[in-house]
Amino acid sequence: MLDVKTLDELSASVRGEIIQPDDPQYDDARTVYNGMIDRRPRLIVRCADVADVIACVNYARETGLTLSIRGGGHNVVGFATNDGGLVIDLCRMKGIRVDAEKRTVRAQGGCTWGDLDHATHPFGLHAPGGVISTTGVAGLSLGGGIGHLTRKAGLSCDNIISADVVTASGELVTASANKNPDLYWALRGGGGNFGVVTSLEFKLHEVSTVFGGPVLWSLDKAKDAMRFWQQHMANAPDDLNAFFAFLIVPPGPPFPEELHNKTVCAVVICYAGPMEKAEEVTRPLREFGPPLLDGVGPMPFPALQAAFDPLLPPGLQHYWKGDFFKELSDEAIEAHVKFGPDIPTVNSAVHFYPVSGAAGRVGKNDTPWSYRDAQFALVIAAVYPDPADSQKNIQWVRDYWEAAHPYSAGGAYVNFMMDEGEDRIRASYRDNYDRLVQVKNEYDPGNLFHLNQNIKPAV
Ligand SMILES: Cc1cc2nc3c(=O)[nH]c(=O)nc-3n(C[C@H](O)[C@H](O)[C@H](O)COP(=O)(O)OP(=O)(O)OC[C@H]3O[C@@H](n4cnc5c(N)ncnc54)[C@H](O)[C@@H]3O)c2cc1C
Repeated sequence: MLDVKTLDELSASVRGEIIQPDDPQYDDARTVYNGMIDRRPRLIVRCADVADVIACVNYARETGLTLSIRGGGHNVVGFATNDGGLVIDLCRMKGIRVDAEKRTVRAQGGCTWGDLDHATHPFGLHAPGGVISTTGVAGLSLGGGIGHLTRKAGLSCDNIISADVVTASGELVTASANKNPDLYWALRGGGGNFGVVTSLEFKLHEVSTVFGGPVLWSLDKAKDAMRFWQQHMANAPDDLNAFFAFLIVPPGPPFPEELHNKTVCAVVICYAGPMEKAEEVTRPLREFGPPLLDGVGPMPFPALQAAFDPLLPPGLQHYWKGDFFKELSDEAIEAHVKFGPDIPTVNSAVHFYPVSGAAGRVGKNDTPWSYRDAQFALVIAAVYPDPADSQKNIQWVRDYWEAAHPYSAGGAYVNFMMDEGEDRIRASYRDNYDRLVQVKNEYDPGNLFHLNQNIKPAV
């Protein structure tokens, strides 16, 4: 039971909405994106501003309540919620300010990538996000952030100029290259370990219309297509991003009826360079095969960024595993071609995202995101509507991962991982792990922020 007096004190100091188990909006507010997660926090506070966040952090620290931070609610482990604790829900903090002259944007902690793209697109500018529009800007960027612009502009975290952070002591600090540089370093890949990020300032890049879309091949071409794509990306200009996928063709437009529900392999292209070069740069991938479908063409960047949204509504069951790869050897390709075609549903994903180009040129110790020498980040994601199908779907992910992992670089991208234990977290950060622990010791020695891929303090 919570002490009524202290709860009254919290209510008096918060302008946002405090939601408790008896409130009609409770079930809606406690639901996260992954339908597998069913947790019942004691309090959900939809913060209105930084002062609310400070009040909540102090309240959780003083009462000993478990604390979650909720941005877009997409984390598949369900870190954004908990049983019996407090959720700092940032969904009402959606302020965005674009400085078109300086090519920067500041976005509050509750923004999704759809919100940010909407705000920056009219200026012909974008920050690199992911490949769907509904993920939270903060949760995705603090873990790294891989998407359509990774090769052109780097990871999302590489583009963070500064962050406002409420630390475990309830203090608001700014982290940038000049202010609290250790915290600034740790935030760019270290996840939600160091405080509640109330706003992030990003570098923007000139991106408006891109030349993008899918190229589909029949499965009998999978090995050759994978080899060709790998070779092509090794020499491609940074402006070209193309991720390889096994997928089931969605049963609706723009796909022709004869392809509906067919399992295929594919690349999803995003060329974000000068349009007069688009045909030439993308042609080899579009002509290879020949493909079953070439769906590549000019489109506004936000349209590509939202193209997968209908396949991934909230409430589906999600079970994911991932790894980084420095190369896809013939043996590795054998493993992928054995398991990839068993992708279980149209919502599921086997995606190999390039992490080369601009992302690959950042020093491996310049941010916590260590795998700058990797070429691809793989995610194997079973996504399905019926919990009764969990066993077979989870088994497919595990079997696939077991077969492919021996060919991997060792670790995985933290935002593509389930709750896989400390060794896997260490494997993600490699020699950056110890420095993350030092920053954790300084900013959160009591591990108040532990619902994340946790860096345990050593104090
Ligand atoms: C359908 C889907 C598509 C995805 N696509 C991509 C993709 O293309 N590229 C990619 O890189 N990743 C992708 N992801 C993974 C995504 O990066 C992670 O799930 C990320 O955690 C989502 O952030 P969120 O704010 O939506 O999540 P939440 O569940 O709200 O937050 C997750 C965790 O992030 C931390 N966090 C969030 N906000 C803050 C904050 N303001 N301050 C401090 N910590 C915070 C907290 O630790 C929190 O528990 C995808 C996930 C899903 C479900």
